[in-house]
Amino acid sequence: MIVIIICPMLIPTRCFSCGKEVASLWEPFNEMLQKNTPPEEIYQKLGVRRVCCKRMLTAQVDLIDDILKFMRQQ
Ligand SMILES: [Zn+2]
Repeated sequence: MIVIIICPMLIPTRCFSCGKEVASLWEPFNEMLQKNTPPEEIYQKLGVRRVCCKRMLTAQVDLIDDILKFMRQQ
């Protein structure tokens, strides 16, 4: 049996500048952001120190719902 899990996440796996793995930080970052936690506090909890990695999380926009509208119907 093959199980396919579609993850609604399009964040790059690693930071473009330094190579730190950031994809696993996206969900906790987003959850804490929804709870109105200040971004700097979130960065400290997640261990994100570099500006380049903060950019990766801050600038991320989930587009999967928009892209799915245009998927080919078969
Ligand atoms: Zn980085």
